[in-house]
Amino acid sequence: MTSGEKRKIEEVLTGQAASDGAGVKLKRVFGGGDLSRFDPFLMLDEFGSNDASDYIAGFPSHPHRGFETVTYMLEGHMEHRDHMGNVGQLQPGDVQWMKAGSGVIHSEMPKQEEGRMRGFQLWVNLPAAEKMTPAEYSELAAADIPRYRVDGAEVKAIAGRLVLNGEAVAGVLEQDKAEGADHGRSTEPGYIDVSTPAAQTLNIEIPDGHTALVYVYEGEVQTAEQRFALKSGQLARLSRSGELELVTAAGSRLLVITGKPIGEPIVQRGPFVMNTAAEIQQAIRDFSEGRLVPDAEVA
Ligand code: MN
Repeated sequence: MTSGEKRKIEEVLTGQAASDGAGVKLKRVFGGGDLSRFDPFLMLDEFGSNDASDYIAGFPSHPHRGFETVTYMLEGHMEHRDHMGNVGQLQPGDVQWMKAGSGVIHSEMPKQEEGRMRGFQLWVNLPAAEKMTPAEYSELAAADIPRYRVDGAEVKAIAGRLVLNGEAVAGVLEQDKAEGADHGRSTEPGYIDVSTPAAQTLNIEIPDGHTALVYVYEGEVQTAEQRFALKSGQLARLSRSGELELVTAAGSRLLVITGKPIGEPIVQRGPFVMNTAAEIQQAIRDFSEGRLVPDAEVA
């Protein structure tokens, strides 16, 4: 790491209202357009509402191929079912890490008829060599996600190895990998959720060359150099080398997401993300002809 170099904001994006699934209202933070700048990430959605009509329709049975989906619940209860027979109950603080690989058919439906639902879904691309590998499903329970206190900040470490104010923070996914799970190895994802009850400065060491994204979902965060205030609902994409220095306002909550760029062509059509248009056409044919997943049982 170049000593003293700080990551700079390359781009600030404000989440846009969108609708997906069977009519779930959500905030699309990024997704679509030139995705190479977020490589290896493809999309980030924040869903959150007190109004059941915004989420009750859920995400009925649908396919994915070629990447991973990571769902992180803050509040509420969602149920996941997939063609492999997995049934997952996603409750506050839980994470679901699903490698679609060559194909998944699943549903993601609310298990509540009222009250607040809140969380995030991140899409992480897979390199060509892993796009057609078997699907894999992992649940990372809230109780198993390591928590750290770093100079007053509360940190939940979902994935990766980062250093905050000199303290090493290792995600639950690192333990999962040690047990032989295959997900997330080549993109080396880092994913932490940080709450700062008081204003503070955070120095975050991220491997050089890795993409770094900061999404503020409560409060306000500045980068130390530019003093640009990121407000709730805004994402900053940072330059790819140096340390990340953030100054948070009291009561801020933010996600820091990092990963190693894949550097391959990205062709997306809805729930399929491949390297070429021909591979997308193949995915569409495989799905319509019932060959996307082995022995498909409708989720
Ligand atoms: Mn899905």
